[in-house]
Amino acid sequence: MKRIGVLALQGAIREHVHMLENLGCEAVEVKQKQDLIKLDGLVLPGGESTTMRKLLDRSDLLEPIRELAQRGLPMFGTCAGLILMANTLVNDEPHLAVMDVTVTRNSYGRQVDSFEVKLDIPKIGKAIPAVFIRAPHMETVGKDVEILAEHEGKIILARDGHLLGCSFHPELTSDSRILKYFVASMV
Ligand code: GLN
Repeated sequence: MKRIGVLALQGAIREHVHMLENLGCEAVEVKQKQDLIKLDGLVLPGGESTTMRKLLDRSDLLEPIRELAQRGLPMFGTCAGLILMANTLVNDEPHLAVMDVTVTRNSYGRQVDSFEVKLDIPKIGKAIPAVFIRAPHMETVGKDVEILAEHEGKIILARDGHLLGCSFHPELTSDSRILKYFVASMV
């Protein structure tokens, strides 16, 4: 059974835990360093990246998670989780700085604070629902980064080797295909 951590400091934690359990994984809530032991993968959920950063510093988790990413532990960052992983943030200092992408926060105007679309993702499936909540997007990606999905010209799902990042919340729907892709093909 694959043992997948979910960073559990703030944000959409429970939904990821449920979806991972439904996919047959053991889900581990990561709140402190010891929780990172013997993981096969780690999910960085959506929420508020600035709050999560403060809590990461307070719980001494930033450096250990960065090291695990650099050593090749598969990670999936959704929304704020993508912001945490990005090497470069437009108008902000980066956090973990492990994924070769440049990310802009809050890319969709106030009127469309949150919305849902259906995505056709060739590598994953058709009509996959995606919930965007004050979502970021990827401005540019490095040469070894594979773009998996775009929406209205913006890069919203990409893979940098063992690191997967998306702008939206795949866990807030009942469709688990994106999380399944992460677990099945990367972990
Ligand atoms: N706007 C949030 C941030 O900047 C991300 C929103 C989300 O994770 N749904 O961190």
